[in-house]
Amino acid sequence: MDMHATKIPAGDDSGSDIVGPEVDEGMQHCLQLLVDAGLRPTRQRLALGQLLFLRSHRHVTAESLYEEAMAANAHLSLATVYNTLNQFTEAGLLRRIAADGIKSFFDTDTSVHPHFYLEGEDVLVDVADGLALTKMPEALPGHEIARLDVIVHLRRKSV
Ligand SMILES: [Zn+2]
Repeated sequence: MDMHATKIPAGDDSGSDIVGPEVDEGMQHCLQLLVDAGLRPTRQRLALGQLLFLRSHRHVTAESLYEEAMAANAHLSLATVYNTLNQFTEAGLLRRIAADGIKSFFDTDTSVHPHFYLEGEDVLVDVADGLALTKMPEALPGHEIARLDVIVHLRRKSV
């Protein structure tokens, strides 16, 4: 691999807030993750990558990640957050899950696993365990099953 690929691209003065004492283990890990996925480690990607990939698995929307980025003083537009999430997804770092017609969630766990979607609360969580599919349908002629997405929709009980 090209050694230069792991350098943070120059030419962005505001990038100086990343280089320096804040280049820690997490940043290195994040940088390597992006490079391994074939993505140039730009300031935006590093800022969002650190929010996404340094903790345990999580589910975010563009809006929720944008709010986190604001709180972390990363000056990014919602459009940039959305584009970056799509780039991460195309690079295989995230899995997109369309829980309802409007909103996409992005899962840092790219393995196939079932989810609970809490309707009205806009929350997606993993189903811990207990889902067993005993019979898969036959694929249509000329096709194969690519993956199986299971989303169990929950709503609050009316008391
Ligand atoms: Zn998940």
